[in-house]
Amino acid sequence: MADLVLFNTLGRKLTPFAPIEPGVAKMYTCGPTVYNDIHIGNLRTFAFEDLLRRTLRYLGYRVVQVMNVTDVDDKTIQGAHKAGVSLEEYTQPFIASFLRDLDTLRIERAEHFPRATHCIPDMVALIARLVERGYAYQSDGSVFFSIARDADYGRLSGFDLAQVRRGERVASDEYGKEDVRDFVLWKGVKPGEPAWESPWGPGRPGWHVECSAMSMKYLGESFDLHCGGVDNIFPHHENEIAQSEAATGHPFVRTWVHGEHLIVDGQKMAKSLGNQYTLKDLVDRGTTPRAIRYLLLSVHYRQKLNFTFESLDAAAGALRRVDEMRFRVAHAPEDATRTETEAGFAETLAKLPRDFAAAVADDLNVAAALAAVFVFVKEVNVAVEEGRLGPGDKDRIAAALADVDRVLGVLDPAAWPATATAAGDTEEEEIERLIQERKEARQRRDFAASDRIRDELAGRGIVLEDTPQGTRWKRR
Ligand SMILES: [Zn+2]
Repeated sequence: MADLVLFNTLGRKLTPFAPIEPGVAKMYTCGPTVYNDIHIGNLRTFAFEDLLRRTLRYLGYRVVQVMNVTDVDDKTIQGAHKAGVSLEEYTQPFIASFLRDLDTLRIERAEHFPRATHCIPDMVALIARLVERGYAYQSDGSVFFSIARDADYGRLSGFDLAQVRRGERVASDEYGKEDVRDFVLWKGVKPGEPAWESPWGPGRPGWHVECSAMSMKYLGESFDLHCGGVDNIFPHHENEIAQSEAATGHPFVRTWVHGEHLIVDGQKMAKSLGNQYTLKDLVDRGTTPRAIRYLLLSVHYRQKLNFTFESLDAAAGALRRVDEMRFRVAHAPEDATRTETEAGFAETLAKLPRDFAAAVADDLNVAAALAAVFVFVKEVNVAVEEGRLGPGDKDRIAAALADVDRVLGVLDPAAWPATATAAGDTEEEEIERLIQERKEARQRRDFAASDRIRDELAGRGIVLEDTPQGTRWKRR
């Protein structure tokens, strides 16, 4: 097993991964705030975390991953209020679409997806510990963390507290702070807002305390890995460290791993620029989820990923090279006179898992990992051309690809359902789809549309026959 090295934001250096419990990797990944559909930037972060998760498993670790769902905050409360529904009714469809997007991109599901609103007692207990230990104070029904009590504050982000003037006044819901640098743990209720009971009166938890409470609930007071986007480093993760360690007196997390931003056409993604794509937006434009996954994985997590439609085409092109190699292998003759794998080709087969494992273990060096895959593709093509495949080699090729695909999750076309956008459909699938469309047209009595589909198929030599069991088709 190759030894895994990761860039630890805490200390800013490459660090050997050494879990607290041998063989088990306990990992917390900050999840979505469910007030809209997640965008491609969120998905980049989740895809990098999936690469880390799958790499850990590939290297032999059992992974326990927690990803929170923030289903109470200013945005979800405002959204529910505007829509005139309860918080739960408002967030439920976004939780469903978030999970669907993960599945569509074959991002493995975490072991736990706790919702903030289901863990309020854990958050209240954590805040109570902080109050008891003198790290937090009450003011006007809210509770704040006192940064002045934490001498270590700022060591994750390198944030210099002295730069922020004391006593400055900030956002309206944070009046009552003794110090501008303090952050809210418990927000006293405002009229019309959902609220939960607490020793400090009704209210709701602050965002930072959610993640501390939910991570420690499932992973213990000290655990191995905490991940998120670089925008989480400050203040979110800094505050998580401060409040968790103040409450427990133990180190909170050993290794912090942060993924860089995704930008679109060289620009920051923003709603106002119209470039904040969701997965559905991209699929509607005819992109396959498989190419999207490939693109999201293909840039190292500590580099900015510039998302363009050209780069999506390049991703699809790279996958085509793998698929074409599979096709050639499937149709290649085997040299039955051979009794064992030819020596040069045996080395090709041995090299892929070796080079691939070394690459991903090196701080998820995906460029080197993909290079190993494409060296393999090239050498297999040459071996096919030169007629060097012997009995069993086809299976060995398939097994070698399947092995590295445990990490990449993108190399096997059969694992990706054909999308409705026809591009990936076989002819049979397309005929079935058109028959289904014709049936729907007839059900809504749109006979012009149903006739058009029948005529289109007839033009291609496909005859339809309507039976009580449904529509059958045959070639003329
Ligand atoms: Zn978080």
